[in-house]
Amino acid sequence: MLRPHKAGAAVQKIVTLKEVTLITPTASMDATVHGGRAKCLQRLVCLEMPVPTTVAISFQAVHGIATGRMPNVSAILSHFGEAPLVSVRPSSQDPDWGGPGAILNIGMNDARFDAMCETMGEAAAAAVYMRFIQCYAEHVARLDPESFHMPDTPSGETLHAFLATYEAETDEEFPQDPQEQLAEVLRSMARTWEGTTARLLRQAKGAPADAGLGLVVQAMALGVGAGECGAGVVQFVDATTGAPSLIGRYQSQAQGRDALHDNKRAIYLTKDKRGAALEDICPDAFAELIRIGGLARKHLREEMQIEFTIQNGKLHILDGVRVQRSSRAVVRVAVDLANDGVIPREEAVMRVPPSALSEMLHRQVDPRASRDLIVRGIAASPGAATGRIVFSSNEAQASAARGEACILVRRETTPEDIRGMHAANGVLTMRGGVTSHAAVIGRGLGLPCVVGASDLEINAKKHAIITPDGRSFVEGDVITVDGTTGDILAGEPAMLEAALDEWFRTLLTWAEEFCDIGIRANADTPADAQTARNFDAQGIGLCRTEHMFFEGDRLGVMREMIFADDADDRREVLERLLPMQRSDFVELFKIMQGLPVCIRLFDPPLHEFLPSDKAGMRDLAEGLDLHLSEVMARVAALEEYNPMLGMRGVRLGISVPEIYDMQARAIFEATVVASRKGDPVAPEVMIPLVSAVREVELVKTRIDAVAAAVKAETGVDFSYRLGVMVETPRAALRAEDIAQHAAFMSFGTNDLTQMTYGLSRDDAGRFMSSYVRQGVYAEDPFHTLDVEGVGELLSIGAERGRKGNENIVLSICGEHGGSRAAIAFCRARGFDYVSCSPFRVPVARLSAAQLAISKPETI
Ligand code: PEP
Ligand code: MG
Repeated sequence: MLRPHKAGAAVQKIVTLKEVTLITPTASMDATVHGGRAKCLQRLVCLEMPVPTTVAISFQAVHGIATGRMPNVSAILSHFGEAPLVSVRPSSQDPDWGGPGAILNIGMNDARFDAMCETMGEAAAAAVYMRFIQCYAEHVARLDPESFHMPDTPSGETLHAFLATYEAETDEEFPQDPQEQLAEVLRSMARTWEGTTARLLRQAKGAPADAGLGLVVQAMALGVGAGECGAGVVQFVDATTGAPSLIGRYQSQAQGRDALHDNKRAIYLTKDKRGAALEDICPDAFAELIRIGGLARKHLREEMQIEFTIQNGKLHILDGVRVQRSSRAVVRVAVDLANDGVIPREEAVMRVPPSALSEMLHRQVDPRASRDLIVRGIAASPGAATGRIVFSSNEAQASAARGEACILVRRETTPEDIRGMHAANGVLTMRGGVTSHAAVIGRGLGLPCVVGASDLEINAKKHAIITPDGRSFVEGDVITVDGTTGDILAGEPAMLEAALDEWFRTLLTWAEEFCDIGIRANADTPADAQTARNFDAQGIGLCRTEHMFFEGDRLGVMREMIFADDADDRREVLERLLPMQRSDFVELFKIMQGLPVCIRLFDPPLHEFLPSDKAGMRDLAEGLDLHLSEVMARVAALEEYNPMLGMRGVRLGISVPEIYDMQARAIFEATVVASRKGDPVAPEVMIPLVSAVREVELVKTRIDAVAAAVKAETGVDFSYRLGVMVETPRAALRAEDIAQHAAFMSFGTNDLTQMTYGLSRDDAGRFMSSYVRQGVYAEDPFHTLDVEGVGELLSIGAERGRKGNENIVLSICGEHGGSRAAIAFCRARGFDYVSCSPFRVPVARLSAAQLAISKPETI
């Protein structure tokens, strides 16, 4: 006996025993009542694995404990014999939501120590007791862990010192009654779970605010004592790649996960040239462990990490949790399980969150890397890139020419920056939201992009950005854009490479089998189209033709067209643009091999093609042989207060019809050329920004005339379909009339969101985060389709459109097109397809397949 002690005084209010359940094969056990760990342990018990006696305490009971209602602890301990020695572990509904750490060796006291000294020696007994005191002191009594540092060689003397420290710091003796010890452990775990920090942490992992915590109380299989005793952890796949691999460590005379933390004493599991292995020292237990691993995979239908102990050569299985894994491993494990017949393909498809594919498609900052955050903006295009800061497109191009990675930093980008974006590795803007120019182009190019970093100051003169904490980064400094999270980081953190491996492809092939809505891509260039094809897009749903005018020497011709004095002059310049557009379309048609290609006629206001600074205007004046004043006057004349609501889209098409005439001719001539060489092409021509049926009639008449002319000139017949973009509220409301003149209606939810909210998509970034934080908007409506408001217009438009034309093809081509919420919405209303950035095609296909498999009724 070490010393006399006061009688234990566990004060308990009794609650019903149903809240506490002994885990047996037939016990009623549910992850939503007792947590995932309890349910998993029951499965292991059902498989007749050597699991020590375990009792599950339900969410309700644990919540009761936090509020002062302690269950009958004596009844709990009655399952564990005369002198109970137990552990307590958390059991939240989803193991990923975490919970307080495990506490082992509850029940250790002076008397037990004396008895254990007899059987296993003083050092081992002291180690077990001291470990409990250490854990209890830190997590239950909330003492400073520094005061309880574990010595290398525990002994009766060091144990005395621990007990004395405990007493000195609490003015109480260390509790000796196992009931009191257990009650205090349960109380402390229950309260920790209800605390603010734990709640915020689990909410960040997707748990609801009121997520429950269960607890499991389990008989200790000590891992310490005579014969071969120890503890280890094993899993059967690599957590990063998902490849089959036996990974783990074992440590003699150890407990819990010690083997993972003590590099000196831990040994390998399988025979290994580098040193001793469990397979050598305890072959029977090792063989049993391997057998159990296979059994768990097959019957739990999951890759599990198993915690085990060996007691005098006998194996005990203490716990099994899903192997934590990277996105790449999530995909490989799901596909391998399905290929091995452990789960059906549908389930493999359901198991992969679409965000995992998005991560695999792009380089990512390694989650283990340290992050020096400069500023947080809006995550506009996923993936991460590191490079030197440049402030203009010219510098970006020069940097690319030198072979140096760069990040293009702009207040906002305009179409003029496209060449700079092509050259840059990532883009950062101070203004804009998820549908701003930088965001749309970034996603199209698969270029990591963060927009709306409005807390950054940009000092154009000094070529520097100033961070909210006063740091300054100048041109040439290295930064990292994390377009997945919206973070801008200083320097170059470690990265994980994109991984489009065979498992990724297999999963997508399976997803395609289940998918019941078309997935097309928004693709403007041959490179975009090729990406779309590589991801098996079923066509192009939106080709924004204006982007073609910024390529190479076309901008100059485009500007000449803008400066033309009259329609004849304009037509003459457009004739020079015609072959360029035609070759663009031939190229697109070739790549898409007969799949539908929907080409949107010119949409942006013309001023976007003109320089905005004096130097640019002087260059232009020189190029066009004009006076600077003439250029300035034309730029001023084209300037609009609100270009989003001004002379753009079909309004421009009707006011300056030569542009659409040229584009229609280019499309039809390309159709003839491409169909001669390859699969027959039936192009789709789409009119943007429609708000009145007369607009459609006028444009349709001219387009039909051009088609007839091209047919007559070439002697080749072809078919084409003319449709409209529904992106003004009026077009949705008048869809019945409009649909009578259209073969298809594609909802442009970027503009439609902008106009429904009366909210400029380029300026929304300034206040969006504050609006979302304060709950004014549940989400950024440019990012997540506003099902209530914009969605109602979509429903009205679809319903009225069908009334006007029962064969109308319906789709959505705004940036929402790739999101699960928008796909669910479109499926529920029988839309034919969604169209999204090429890099989102796989993500959209997986979301659509999951929705088809789970068949939600309606939205
Ligand atoms: C839209 O408005 O939803 C759309 C796809 O067109 P853009 O983004 O080019 O305006
Ligand atoms: Mg639009």
